[in-house]
Amino acid sequence: MRVSEDRYSQDLRRLELAHRLIQHEVRTQWICATTGLTDERVRNLLHSYGVGSVPRHRGAPPTSCTVFFRMAKHPEASALGALARLWKLVPASPIRNARQGLPGLEWGERLCEAFEFFRALVPAGVLSVNQFILLTFVLAEGRLVIAHCAQCQAAILIDPLAAKLLRCRVCEEAVAGGGRRRRRKAEQVPADGVVGDRMPAGEQQSLF
Ligand SMILES: [Zn+2]
Repeated sequence: MRVSEDRYSQDLRRLELAHRLIQHEVRTQWICATTGLTDERVRNLLHSYGVGSVPRHRGAPPTSCTVFFRMAKHPEASALGALARLWKLVPASPIRNARQGLPGLEWGERLCEAFEFFRALVPAGVLSVNQFILLTFVLAEGRLVIAHCAQCQAAILIDPLAAKLLRCRVCEEAVAGGGRRRRRKAEQVPADGVVGDRMPAGEQQSLF
């Protein structure tokens, strides 16, 4: 009796997680890997919603990480990567095949919690759960890492093979903006080298 109760509650957890992942439009392949449900059972669940009532994505799950480094998405990917670490979705040491090693019932529940927490804080977020799953995989394999901005200590997602000076986008833009302002000032220097009333062009000026 006890064994059948445990099996029932375990099966209920699997179904509840599958419904949650379906609502997040997670690929069928990853729903099966996370819940342990068969492909057929997930398809039956999808049919129970009614054809077309739940948006579905066709084809293979995303594999490219370039989306995480696009200007508008990098801060969001960095925040989600930091959450993946806080929610312990990513192991402390790199693993070889995260697609096989990570997905599981408890992992899937924490994944949903972390993503839903993030979306409650940032409702306009654009990265999907499918992309969040890919992010946890590449972080777990050490192909991307979470580092800290050299200036403000914010968490930033980096490619350890490509990273140079570590700055978050805000600090990067502040530095670039400072450079532009200095160049504009220099361009405004008249031919006689005197700016405004008395300041000669070659004299030490304020840094900011
Ligand atoms: Zn910064």
